[in-house]
Amino acid sequence: MKLALVGLGKIARDQHLPAIEATPGARLAAIASRHAGLDGLPCYPTIDALLAAEPGIDAVTLCTPPDRRFAQALAALDAGKHLMLEKPPGATLAEVAALGRRAAAAGVTLFATWHSREAAAVGPARRWLAGREIRSARITWKEDVRHWHPGQGWIWEPGGLGVFDPGINALSIATAILPDPLLVARSALHFPSNRATPIAAEVDMVTAAGAPVAMELDWRQTGPQTWDISVETDDGALTLSKGGAVLTIDGAEQLAEPDEEYRRLYARFVELVAAGESDVDMSPLMLVADAFLVGRRHVVEPFFDAPEMAT
Ligand code: NAP
Repeated sequence: MKLALVGLGKIARDQHLPAIEATPGARLAAIASRHAGLDGLPCYPTIDALLAAEPGIDAVTLCTPPDRRFAQALAALDAGKHLMLEKPPGATLAEVAALGRRAAAAGVTLFATWHSREAAAVGPARRWLAGREIRSARITWKEDVRHWHPGQGWIWEPGGLGVFDPGINALSIATAILPDPLLVARSALHFPSNRATPIAAEVDMVTAAGAPVAMELDWRQTGPQTWDISVETDDGALTLSKGGAVLTIDGAEQLAEPDEEYRRLYARFVELVAAGESDVDMSPLMLVADAFLVGRRHVVEPFFDAPEMAT
């Protein structure tokens, strides 16, 4: 599969390039990025220029910000290319649904990825929880935005999701491991006075069977970072920590494996294309949309990319 990658930014360099390199059956053949390129590969400023110049491309991965992707996705699908989307798959639910219909009409694969679902302990956690009664769950996702999103202006603009950009990873895991669908009951969203997206949020959810699921997101955490999900059941307690890499049951660590999330994503993309299938699950994005729909808005201190800018 000859792949093209669009949007050569942080996640493309940190994860996609090494994962593609390690994927049997896939080869990176071209890049589209306005300000960046790679030695030895054809690079184009736009996806349209790439598609026009490289008719032999089989598939495209979009690593651009979510609210800039829709036209790029349509261009790829309309050119008959299989398409992989970074999370979140789009800026709105309707956009993603439209892409799903377009991919089906074009007879190509659409893969809306959720990389956190590929963390090593997520599958084992899902299997352990299946058949148990969920009493309650708690999601704590606290990280330092300055470290993970240095200077990324888009993430603070409408459509950029703010703290739900990492928070949607937690929701992608929760929707994969909990046996019942999740519903948002209420949420509190904390917006810096100089930004259009929240820096912190508390979201109260409930499973369809009635168990409470509390989520706390905060982008202001320095020092140790926290990406934990804990679940109380009628038959023991489970904790997923380090973003789904470590599984603990009743206090005993069961599994801790190195991160292979993006390698697993590309292996799955190759499989989906070979099988002629798509994978588009919008449930994490639906929960984020619902958290905004019912959210109570609070204004907090302004946020600056560097602390000294505040003075
Ligand atoms: P990023 O560093 O800002 O990279 C995105 C790239 O897209 C930019 O380098 C830019 O390259 C291109 N781009 C095209 N149009 C753009 C526009 N209008 N504004 C800004 N950039 C534009 O962002 P990222 O962290 O890689 O995130 C990209 C996607 O990956 C997001 O959906 C994010 O949620 C997801 N993701 C990020 C992380 C992470 O830790 N950073 C982890 C997992 C997933 P050119 O200027 O060269 O066009």
